[in-house]
Amino acid sequence: MSELESKKVLITGSTSGIGLAIAKTFAKQNSTVILNGFGTIDEIKTIIDDLSRQTSAKVFHYGADLTDPLAIEEMMKKIQAEIGSIDILINNAGVQHVEAIETFPVNKWDQIIAINLSAYFHTTRHAVGSMKEKGWGRVINIASTHGLVGSPYKSAYVAAKHGVVGLTKVVALETGGLGVTCNAVCPGWVLTPLVDAQIKEKAEHSKQNYEEATRDFLAEKHPSLAFVEAEHIAQMCLFLCSDAASQMTGSILAIDGGWTAR
Ligand code: NAD
Repeated sequence: MSELESKKVLITGSTSGIGLAIAKTFAKQNSTVILNGFGTIDEIKTIIDDLSRQTSAKVFHYGADLTDPLAIEEMMKKIQAEIGSIDILINNAGVQHVEAIETFPVNKWDQIIAINLSAYFHTTRHAVGSMKEKGWGRVINIASTHGLVGSPYKSAYVAAKHGVVGLTKVVALETGGLGVTCNAVCPGWVLTPLVDAQIKEKAEHSKQNYEEATRDFLAEKHPSLAFVEAEHIAQMCLFLCSDAASQMTGSILAIDGGWTAR
């Protein structure tokens, strides 16, 4: 039996990309997987059916819009009432907008700060009390290389991700010695819809084809010249939930093809 078999794990933004890869990885451990994120009824049913068919994990979906603190509160209360208290919280949902600061739309700033930073605060404040009571819990914040360094035209995203790194350290300090850890994972480029959109935008601006734009995109930041795989992030989350990681807390873990080594 996997040590994660009896654990309930909530992964925000898990109907796509990195979050979905994390959900699959925990489902393979037969954890109880609680999905969150957007999608049509059919898309979400397909994800739940696939995960349930391939594993014997119980899989649930709560579609709260993470821009809304009340919707987050309602989701957390429903999960508590319908499934029980969460053992592992993986804050992952995130969005991006790329534009110079002087024209950066104020509504985009507000949306990115709400989803990429404030939602991490709201889910954590609702989840961490029962983790402390039980004497075991894991909070994993999917931040970004942009939690460690900046890039032009990403003011809201970089500000939010640096905020997540700070929040991670504070939660680690407040939960120290109580069996609860809080760590941040900082991926470089992972080829998900979030990055695919940026490559397409770059290709259009620089009149390159998709392959040329991808090559330049990687060469600019990743000395490894390859994408990080969503599965690599998922495996790091799994490790952070293992006994071997019980003394890792407040750690800010780069998986970035060498981006931050420069
Ligand atoms: P993605 O676009 O594939 O998935 C985003 C998920 O968030 C989806 O499930 C979507 O439905 C959900 N979501 C978006 N807005 C939401 C809202 N208001 N309420 C609820 N759910 C919402 O993105 P991804 O690339 O897998 O990114 C996941 C996380 O990883 C993000 O925090 C992102 O910043 C971070 N990250 C990604 C990369 C990368 O290269 N892809 C690199 C570093 C960090």
